[in-house]
Amino acid sequence: MEHSDFLVVGGGVIGSAVACGLLHKKCSVTLLDAGGDAFNASLANFGLVWVQGKGQGSRRYAEWCHEASELFPEYVRQLETETGIDLAYRKPGGLVLCHGEEEYQKREKVLERLRNESRHGSYDCHMLDRADVQKMLPNLTLGPGITGGSYSAHDGYLNPLALLKALHMSFTQGGGHFCSGTAVTNIGYQHGRFLVTTNSGEFTAEKIVLAAGNAMTRLSRMVGMDVQVHPEQGQLMVTERTRPTLSMPISGIQQTAEGSFIVGLSNRNVGFNTDTDTRLMKQMAQRVVNAFPALACLKIVRSWSSLRVLTADGLPIYQQSERCPGAYAVTAHSGVTLAPQHQIHIADWIAEGVQPEEFERFSTRRFDVEKTA
Ligand SMILES: Cc1cc2nc3c(=O)[nH]c(=O)nc-3n(C[C@H](O)[C@H](O)[C@H](O)COP(=O)(O)OP(=O)(O)OC[C@H]3O[C@@H](n4cnc5c(N)ncnc54)[C@H](O)[C@@H]3O)c2cc1C
Repeated sequence: MEHSDFLVVGGGVIGSAVACGLLHKKCSVTLLDAGGDAFNASLANFGLVWVQGKGQGSRRYAEWCHEASELFPEYVRQLETETGIDLAYRKPGGLVLCHGEEEYQKREKVLERLRNESRHGSYDCHMLDRADVQKMLPNLTLGPGITGGSYSAHDGYLNPLALLKALHMSFTQGGGHFCSGTAVTNIGYQHGRFLVTTNSGEFTAEKIVLAAGNAMTRLSRMVGMDVQVHPEQGQLMVTERTRPTLSMPISGIQQTAEGSFIVGLSNRNVGFNTDTDTRLMKQMAQRVVNAFPALACLKIVRSWSSLRVLTADGLPIYQQSERCPGAYAVTAHSGVTLAPQHQIHIADWIAEGVQPEEFERFSTRRFDVEKTA
């Protein structure tokens, strides 16, 4: 039986970032991951570090994403220096394109709402007309249906596979114990200590962090919490490589450093199904061609589906169990974007009890308030 100060369950981008943060506190940390999981969102996402449009109805979440984007350049620099892995991170800003007048007006309203809800009545993202969008994308002619878009300087992107690899390397190089292929089947709690049963032995720890993606609901109940998450399918497809033409990420379209375009514009509630759908591919490809007719000649070489990890209101849950103090749940929809927040601030909270400002907004107690309201 192995003992550590902290056990982190789930080696996706969220659990790995938290585990790296805890390791920096000079604690012994063991990271358990079931592995081989087709539903692992961290290996199949879009890689955007995205701020604009997030947090309608939750000023704190809008700020939380914005703060993450501010931390990102230094965060990446440190991770790259530690591991030697190039994360291909760029922060050129990002665009959301509007197809038609109706989409333009809708987008304007979203930004207006975020501005009204913001702390100082300012939200750093603005609408652009078609001519201004075209100026920002000098190498690709816009299709006739594009009426404009919104632009934020805080958006960027990276290679999500490189991020996960770098987090795992940083963790093991820093002295963490990473147990891959280790699925947690039961968590017991006695005298302030956790006893965790897995398919390959038992582990004990003073504290436990659950960051197991779509397995959170089941695992959280083992430590007296009710962290409800559900899967939402997103399908992505990738084209053959071509010369660099897209100078910044666009919501749902980006060009990788190697020259492929990645397209991902879908949200489907189909349970734990990760089948791909050719009709959906056709719709996504059509929307890209409507935006940039010149891309019609590119061949699609691969498509896959993966499952987002969503809470009922789409906001993160950061919660300590009342029944089993020392057990924490950490889950969020934008695990790539929020990586520095999880590694720095969530690890501070778990290891030292330092709570970020207005942290209560992210606990499951917000759902109790909604129920009784
Ligand atoms: C199509 C798509 C596009 C996305 N695009 C973006 C984007 O551009 N930017 C962004 O910020 N976010 C994006 N996301 C969201 C992002 O991918 C997720 O927020 C993030 O990957 C969630 O990480 P996680 O570690 O919580 O979950 P996961 O990546 O699912 O990892 C959970 C881990 O827990 C492990 N696990 C499960 N059960 C157990 C158990 N019993 N014992 C041990 N281990 C267990 C699994 O093996 C898995 O490795 C996207 C998601 C999807 C699906």
